Amino acid sequence: MKTVGYAAHNSDAHMVPYHFERRDLRANDVAIEILYSGVCHSDLHTVNGDWGPQSYPLVPGHEIVGVVQSIGTDVTKYKIGDKVAVGCMVDSCQACDQCDKGEEQYCRNGLTMTYGSPDRISGDITQGGYSKHIVVREEFVLSLPENMDLSKSAPILCAGITTYSPLRTWGVKAGSRVGVIGLGGLGHMAVKLAVAMGAEVTVLSRSKKKEQDAKAMGALGILASSDEEAMQAAANSFDLIIDTVPAKHDVTPYTQLLDIDGTLVIVGQVGPLEEPMTIPLITGRRRIAGSLIGGIEETQEVLEFCAKHNVYPECEMINVDQINDAFERMAKGDMAHRIVIDMASLAAE
Ligand SMILES: [Zn+2]
Ligand SMILES: [Zn+2]
Repeated sequence: MKTVGYAAHNSDAHMVPYHFERRDLRANDVAIEILYSGVCHSDLHTVNGDWGPQSYPLVPGHEIVGVVQSIGTDVTKYKIGDKVAVGCMVDSCQACDQCDKGEEQYCRNGLTMTYGSPDRISGDITQGGYSKHIVVREEFVLSLPENMDLSKSAPILCAGITTYSPLRTWGVKAGSRVGVIGLGGLGHMAVKLAVAMGAEVTVLSRSKKKEQDAKAMGALGILASSDEEAMQAAANSFDLIIDTVPAKHDVTPYTQLLDIDGTLVIVGQVGPLEEPMTIPLITGRRRIAGSLIGGIEETQEVLEFCAKHNVYPECEMINVDQINDAFERMAKGDMAHRIVIDMASLAAE
């Protein structure tokens, strides 16, 4: 199938229109016409080669919403016209203990990422959602609840599941005391999801500049990390902290905020941190943990959860030809919470 997307041709992250082919449908494949594609910070890092060398041309995008255009002969879950979504992964071995548990993101044999990964069968490098069409095996296609606002749903597929999974894993419920470091793409979803679970949510940020935003999302307010007195007063007051900061930073001021047995979960930074102090960890059995997206079953769950509780990311819609500008703004941190590309702006030729 011929399609068109926006691809980076080298690590300077500049993207231009790119005509390419999607594979012929295998028996278990679903072909999707993409309507909306979220723009994730990891798209920028990946095309820049920050996380290792890439194969170019590379079409990024792993927050994909669209409609089923055609299906393979063995597909049973979907029919033409269904509203569907695809997240950060498109395949895994489907045979190991982790895949059996529905935790395909931790597949023992390696997951296939939505873009920049070799396909398990053909070896071709996968291409992502900044494109008109995508072909994905049905096990990795998500179903969108009927009442969902498609134009705002794409960021749930990465930013949503990445924060929902640790909230669920660490048992957040009504009355849980949750801190969220950062109020960007991941952070603002963590706040909204935790609030919808009934938690008492506080945003941790350098300053109180975004306090109105935080409160509008249901947070109690902002605890400014620059305010030493307030940080002291907040010692031992969180059960869970979701750390969404996408750069090297010091977690020690935050581990001190955790109560005994509390956990700080890193979902933003892929790479080194400042050396943490072990005293807060040892003296309160506190933990520093990490978490990667979520399994397919849990991704379906977060979509249902968002539909039920009317939780949506704050989205800024752009046309596809604005993507390079959006990447520049993202690199500078100068953006709304999440940018979504309206793929109708990309003419299929
Ligand atoms: Zn992402
Ligand atoms: Zn597996």
